[in-house]
Amino acid sequence: MPVENPEFEAFLAHTDRDSPAVPGKLSVDRWRLQFRSASAELEIPLDQIEVKLGRRRDARIYFRDRRQPALSLFTEDDSVLACASFVQSRDLRRQLEAELGRRELMRRIRLTVYFFAGCGLVAWLGSLAAGAMVRSFVNEIPPAWEIKTGDSLMGKLEAKLPFVEDSNAVAQLTALAQPLLRAIPVKKVPFHFHILTDPSPNAFALPGGHIVVTTGLLRLAGGPDELLGVIAHETAHVTRRHAFRHLIAGEGPVFILRIFMGGRSRLLEALAYPSEKLVYESFSQEYEREADDVGWDYLVAAHINPHGMIDIFQKLRNYESAKGLSQKGSAFDSHPSLDRRIAWLEAKWAGLPDKHDFIVLTNPVPKINESDVEKMEKVGRLLRPR
Ligand SMILES: [Zn+2]
Repeated sequence: MPVENPEFEAFLAHTDRDSPAVPGKLSVDRWRLQFRSASAELEIPLDQIEVKLGRRRDARIYFRDRRQPALSLFTEDDSVLACASFVQSRDLRRQLEAELGRRELMRRIRLTVYFFAGCGLVAWLGSLAAGAMVRSFVNEIPPAWEIKTGDSLMGKLEAKLPFVEDSNAVAQLTALAQPLLRAIPVKKVPFHFHILTDPSPNAFALPGGHIVVTTGLLRLAGGPDELLGVIAHETAHVTRRHAFRHLIAGEGPVFILRIFMGGRSRLLEALAYPSEKLVYESFSQEYEREADDVGWDYLVAAHINPHGMIDIFQKLRNYESAKGLSQKGSAFDSHPSLDRRIAWLEAKWAGLPDKHDFIVLTNPVPKINESDVEKMEKVGRLLRPR
């Protein structure tokens, strides 16, 4: 519930003078809005307030006393609108409605109240709400826009990194993934596969359905079920839009609130040009766990033996420890909890009712011409895995 009397950073300005705005604190109680600073004080009864929202890139909220129109108070702290007095005052609600449109206003107030659980409360509650908000934002991203963004990012990577040009191998990989892709219930974007010349066994996914596996991973995978274990995990990163969630969440709560106040256009503006950095950053353990779970479900739905996922993770872990990279190396530092993840998947396997009804996978793991790869791999370490 909203809480009375929180304080917000705010400024007082004289609209017809050139003097700089005075910084101070804004608070709201049942009857009035109060501004205090070392040099100025202002009180506006709630029934005399005029509210205006900044246009376009101006994220400010302006308050004016109808009786003193030359004075203007403003804050960039959107959460002021979640305060009880604002939510309850019919006059203010009407003004804001006119500014925003009624539905948008109700949505914002509901979510703002939810987010702050009353103007700033327990951090974990906030982060849960922030997670929920981030999820709801990314659900609003149109698939066509995701595809455009992903394609452009992929284009940048292709210009820089040594991708395998053997279209036969890519076609084989695509064919191998078909039984899995068919089992994914809602596919908002098409999937495209790419093979990167890199000796480290690794895979990553980009928005717009681009799945990249390394030649090192193809070499490590003992069979199609193992490779599909990794691919299922990567497809889940795509369907759950983890890259966008990662980008938004990484900017912090203030940014989240700004997007929230600015609606979809601000969200798309913020995500329009994801840097290639995205590929090099690790996802949170929460997203990794979600990708394991969702990927596992895709495998089971496709009647592909999901134990392949466990097998390949074990191989990855062994690779990691053999290279001495398990502590703080350049490989798999995004998967520090591989042991825990394997244990989690083993428990899922133990609980799987039918461990025999799996399809026979006939498409082989693509073989890359090794001599070419060796030449290319000399280019050096390219990516951190995800
Ligand atoms: Zn992952």
